[in-house]
Amino acid sequence: MPETLMNRMSWVAYRDRVQDGGSPVFLPVGATEQHGPHLPLGTDALLASAVSESAARLVDGIVAPAFAYGFKSQPKCGGGNHFCGTTSLDAQTLAAQVRDAVREFARHGVTRLVIVNGHYENQWFLIEGIDLAMRELGPTSPLTVMRLEYWDFFTPETLAKVFPDGFPGYALEHAAVMETSMMLHFHPDLVRLDLIPDDPPADFPPYDIYPTRTDWVPPSGVLSSAKGASRDKGQAMADEVAKLIATAVRTEFGLGPAL
Ligand code: ZN
Ligand code: MN
Repeated sequence: MPETLMNRMSWVAYRDRVQDGGSPVFLPVGATEQHGPHLPLGTDALLASAVSESAARLVDGIVAPAFAYGFKSQPKCGGGNHFCGTTSLDAQTLAAQVRDAVREFARHGVTRLVIVNGHYENQWFLIEGIDLAMRELGPTSPLTVMRLEYWDFFTPETLAKVFPDGFPGYALEHAAVMETSMMLHFHPDLVRLDLIPDDPPADFPPYDIYPTRTDWVPPSGVLSSAKGASRDKGQAMADEVAKLIATAVRTEFGLGPAL
């Protein structure tokens, strides 16, 4: 098995894989953010990294070290930035980090870069960072970047199985069934099933108020119940997302069908 993790490879081994082998490089991006009393603060980066590793193994890819801080947690999708432990970046800081990393991968000779987002709030600032780098690299650069939110790969059939009572939507899925199940699959030692709270789902009005109305957010930080989480659901979701990301990477980067 070739090495998958960039930070475990020598620079010469890395150079040979990306310059001669054309290996895709995966850059996971997460957050350091409260995920209720039952999941760790690193959940978003841990899941983005784990998903990246599973997909990378299917396409002879390399996973770069994750960006483990994200854009400010929002009440309606991450519980909000007021929780102790949640540690967030300003938008321009995140975009600048992504811009710099994309530019560096291009300098290495990487031609296929996959940015795997695990934190809802990051989306537009990843796009900004990629756009700034691509503008700087110019139209003759051989680099192509794929950007994705891993949860967009779940099929309706899987969602129907994972959420038999109806899917609440990804915003309310913070620290709930999806993330708890995926963590039970990838990092079972970090999940405290006995601490899953009993809060009813959060019910937000269709507007925001600043300063944040922290009383809109359940005090546990969990936006809908995680009670339906299971390791089997996590495994099914993890397998599906790795397979479908690998297929997208093969298709978009002309790598041919899976072996
Ligand atoms: Zn999360
Ligand atoms: Mn998040």
